[in-house]
Amino acid sequence: MQRVSFRPFIIFALIAAVVVTAGVVLYWRQVNILLERDVKTHIADAGREAAADFDRLVQTDRDILNTSAILIEDSYPWKEGQLPEMLARLDQRDHFNLMGVALDNGSVVYAGPSVVPLSKEAVADVLTHTAKSDFYINVFPPTSKYKTHIMVQAVALDPNDATPVGALFSVQKEIYYREVLALSSMGADGHAIIVNRSGDVVLAYEQLPAKNIFSILQRYTLDANMTMDGLRRSLAAGDTVLVGYYTPDNLHNFLQFVPLSVNGWYMVSAIPANYVEAQATQVAKLSLILFGIVFFVFYLLLFFIFRVRDDSNRQLFATAFVDPLTGADNFNRMCEQFASKLSGLNRQAALVIFDINKFKVINDLHGYERGNEVLKSVAQVLQTELQPEESFCRLSADNFILLLKYEDRRSFLKRLKALATQLKRNCTVAESCLVLDVAFGIYEITEDVPFYIMLDRAHLALEHAKTRTFDKCEFYDEADRNRIVAEQQIENSMEAALASREFEIYLQPKCDFVTGEILGAESLVRWNHDGRVVRPDEFIPLFERNGFILQLDMFIMEEAARLLSTWQANGLPVVPLAVNFSRLHLNDARFIPQMRRIMAQYNVPNKLLEAEITESVIFNNLERAQEVISGLHLYGFPVAMDDFGSGYSSLNVLKELKFDSIKLDKEFLSGFEENPRAQKVIEGAINMIKTLGVKVVTEGVETREQADFLRKCGADLAQGYFFSRPVTVSTFEQLLQKRTLL
Ligand code: C2E
Ligand code: MG
Ligand code: MG
Repeated sequence: MQRVSFRPFIIFALIAAVVVTAGVVLYWRQVNILLERDVKTHIADAGREAAADFDRLVQTDRDILNTSAILIEDSYPWKEGQLPEMLARLDQRDHFNLMGVALDNGSVVYAGPSVVPLSKEAVADVLTHTAKSDFYINVFPPTSKYKTHIMVQAVALDPNDATPVGALFSVQKEIYYREVLALSSMGADGHAIIVNRSGDVVLAYEQLPAKNIFSILQRYTLDANMTMDGLRRSLAAGDTVLVGYYTPDNLHNFLQFVPLSVNGWYMVSAIPANYVEAQATQVAKLSLILFGIVFFVFYLLLFFIFRVRDDSNRQLFATAFVDPLTGADNFNRMCEQFASKLSGLNRQAALVIFDINKFKVINDLHGYERGNEVLKSVAQVLQTELQPEESFCRLSADNFILLLKYEDRRSFLKRLKALATQLKRNCTVAESCLVLDVAFGIYEITEDVPFYIMLDRAHLALEHAKTRTFDKCEFYDEADRNRIVAEQQIENSMEAALASREFEIYLQPKCDFVTGEILGAESLVRWNHDGRVVRPDEFIPLFERNGFILQLDMFIMEEAARLLSTWQANGLPVVPLAVNFSRLHLNDARFIPQMRRIMAQYNVPNKLLEAEITESVIFNNLERAQEVISGLHLYGFPVAMDDFGSGYSSLNVLKELKFDSIKLDKEFLSGFEENPRAQKVIEGAINMIKTLGVKVVTEGVETREQADFLRKCGADLAQGYFFSRPVTVSTFEQLLQKRTLL
């Protein structure tokens, strides 16, 4: 049984897996691109927001400082102690960590006595810058006084709107900017720093590896679209820039540079790579799970489809290639596999057909069930007896075809005999005395002809084998084929031959022993074919097989009737003519009506036409023969039994059937001259027949001695070469004119 493989499924699954993987990779890349784009926008927003927040904070501080400065300026010139008091009041708002006024003379007045003072440098810086611009802002690194960065902001005090007399300044500690620098919207790790246009870090959220942003970036690889110089130029120009870079461990990070409103500073927002990664992983994970589920369902479906297909293939295979009764291969399978099996045997093989003789009897006697059991066990025996490279199938009912290894004729026949013995031993119906008998037709594969021709040849050999009594094994013989070809040619031309009157009636006289007077004649057909006169033995058996004899006999009969009518018309002596009728007419209902019609057509009395029916036919169909003979008698046709003594003559036939004459076969007479017993048998037979009132005609009388003996025995009429061979109609008519042959 052929296994339907899962290979297509596996191949398909692999292809699907590759396609899906490619799809996932593409999808993954696309997701990353989108995420990156998304992240960039996100950073840009966050950076802008942080910058705006910072600007807002600074603006607020600046406003407060300006308002406070106006108040302070209003009281100018300040009295002793007035400045500290005003500052203390203003400072009560608790907005700054420290407020103070730096005066031109270098002295500094603070809001209260407990505050930590600014460094001298810072105060100098404040005074220098406020003298030139409206607003001062700067960040100072931690000192021993201030443990953190501080932001100092200041505005000039210029009560006379001429030359400033000092500056009002404030201090904010680092904590105040934390919220702005911590980019909470970017996750826990998002943060920002403030740098100036040269990249120097002004304010950072945490300790950085270097004090300049360019030095920091030098450790990393910038994205292809950005260079250090390019960045420098952008910063110098005050542009907003987004810079991407890769860390040494290949993480992609971004920096967003947004200019601030003061000091040409920049807010630099940094976004850690893992923020992108985390989001991408999250999306990818979800997608993969989704893909997984989809593919699981898809593969499940695919598997299911293949299973269903596999099952139906199996069923189809069984229907198409398995013999349902025995489970063995059927003919289709044999055809399909034949070529490969044959080459598997290196063409050293023989095709064998075997047939169980009288299998029908098994069915009839024991029923189909038992018959089927026998066939199954035959298949089992073949299964065990055949070698793996050989094969067999059940062709039809009790016919099996085998393809066997072939070495030489002797060993092959020996093997088949052994097989027959095995079959006899194993496949006999239990409690039955019927022994399985098989016939083998063998075609040794010598030619490269199509399978069906080999099969025909084996069949032909089988037909032969069946006719044997023992050892029913027969090899195909080329002569058989030639015969078949010749027969085929005859079949092809017979209809045309009949139409073109190639068939001719010959007549052989039946005469009186003593006088030689012609008392009748037998019509014998001859075929004038291809320039030669063909004898009936060469075509009658074939015509009996293909049924053409029915037409031919009627043609000869019509010829006989036509002759009789011409003789009548021409005043020639008229003798009865005998016509041979094949056994096939016995079962043809048109037989007698046709004869009557023809006789009536030629206006000849029926008694002038004698029907010769062969003995063996009568013996096989006694009842039917009886009916036909009675029918013929009813219309006055005389009937002769032909070839009596040639086969298994039965006296029963004589007892049952009323013949007008009996023709002793030439075989029955052969060699009687030297055999006194035979002479007695012949004499006895003739006497017995005559006592029934039946005429005896002897066929094949070739010598005077034979003629004399038969005459003495009391035979009525003689037919044979001694008197005349079968002759053409014109010759016969001449003989008839003479009336006598002796
Ligand atoms: P049959 O009916 O027994 O015909 C007698 C055969 O013996 C004829 O052979 C005839 O030529 C042959 N014969 C006659 N005398 C002698 C003799 O002295 N010695 C020998 N050796 N043979 C002799 P034929 O014509 O070859 O016919 C053979 C058989 O063919 C006939 O045997 C008959 O059975 C059959 N047949 C002939 N014509 C027809 C026909 O038209 N229809 C049918 N159905 N069968 C026919
Ligand atoms: Mg005859
Ligand atoms: Mg005969």
